[in-house]
Amino acid sequence: MNHFSPRRGTLACEAVPLTRIAKEVGTPTYVYSTATLIRHLTVLQEAFKGTPHLHCYAVKANSSLAILKLFAQRGAGFDIVSGGELVRVLAARGRASKVVFSGVGKTEEEMAFALKEGILQFNVESAEELLALDKVARRLKRVAPFAMRVNPHVDARTHRYIATGLKSSKFGVPFEEAIALYRKSRTLKGLNARGLDCHIGSQVTDAKPVQQAIGRVAELFRSLRGEGFALTHLDVGGGLGITYTDEKPPSVAEYARAVLTPLRGLDATLVMEPGRVLVGNAGVLLTRVLYRKKTPARSFVIVDAGMNDLIRPALYEAHHEIVPVVPRRGKKQKVDVVGPVCESSDVLGYDRALPPQEQGDLLAVLSAGAYGMSMASNYNARPRPAEVLVDGKSYRVVRRRESLEDLLRNETP
Ligand SMILES: *Cc1c(COP(=O)(O)O)cnc(C)c1O
Repeated sequence: MNHFSPRRGTLACEAVPLTRIAKEVGTPTYVYSTATLIRHLTVLQEAFKGTPHLHCYAVKANSSLAILKLFAQRGAGFDIVSGGELVRVLAARGRASKVVFSGVGKTEEEMAFALKEGILQFNVESAEELLALDKVARRLKRVAPFAMRVNPHVDARTHRYIATGLKSSKFGVPFEEAIALYRKSRTLKGLNARGLDCHIGSQVTDAKPVQQAIGRVAELFRSLRGEGFALTHLDVGGGLGITYTDEKPPSVAEYARAVLTPLRGLDATLVMEPGRVLVGNAGVLLTRVLYRKKTPARSFVIVDAGMNDLIRPALYEAHHEIVPVVPRRGKKQKVDVVGPVCESSDVLGYDRALPPQEQGDLLAVLSAGAYGMSMASNYNARPRPAEVLVDGKSYRVVRRRESLEDLLRNETP
């Protein structure tokens, strides 16, 4: 469900035609819909209404302050993977007490920062990290609440670059090691075992591996409690997939069933870390056609957004629908929509059937709200795009386009 649809022949975000944004803000620009963002969060919250829970939005999916603020105002917590993301959450008035800190490589500086801010829990991913956290906490005369992230060894059946629950994955620790580490933590004065954590991967379109993984983790949660650990939080990660083209991810109701069934009778606060499902279909990347070119082999439409702006197609072989903002009449033709970056992988879409394109026409790359702007870079010395947040009939530029001066800011020749 999203609020991007044609109005009188022009693709609009809510009530704002994308042509207006392109004219006033320029291109390439990310455009987000407030109504869609709020709806997605609300639907998730409703689905878990009967269970004590906290949705910790995975900041890495889209860390724009305006989006963090929308979610913070509606009660969400946050899942962070760096000190930088914590700075962003705090700047958006998110509460540290609703923050969980994930990731395999937290530095001691990041741990100290998060500890001083009073986050809810550190999701610890290795024995050495656990010892480092204890050391940092004792140095600061504090006690760090932690959850071990366990690797449930299930195949989330997603792209290999975004599966994290396989045996070969760098994430989490094996079950047996987790139990040993909880026991060890009893002797470490800087630590307090608060919960247990897992996350099996991203763009998960099948509820079965979710239920299977949570079943295993719930069992471990019960045995740890049996050993006297007063765990209060069970974090089941994020990963619910979205429809980019013809994927059929579980509905939120189906997902809730897969999560809640294995947790029946477990008296704990359920923590979830949704990222993509909240923001993915709430954003598009608006881009303009620069040139067309035909070679004996292919037809190209060259646009002003490239892989530095949206890297998912190049990085994950991801598919994004690409649609004309104002469709022209005429026969559709198959074209490769490519960016200006000097890489053969700078292709936003292969073999797309598009109506005739002219120089200056606008295209919208759909479902670009997640892992779009947050992965954008300055590759080829290209300034990163602007971001716009639409709300009904009006919009705000929530991040101005980077300038050429911005590109030089931190450098000394
Ligand atoms: C990336 C990530 C998420 C969010 O994943 P989505 O697929 O965007 O929902 C949640 N938790 C952890 C630990 C992650 O690394």
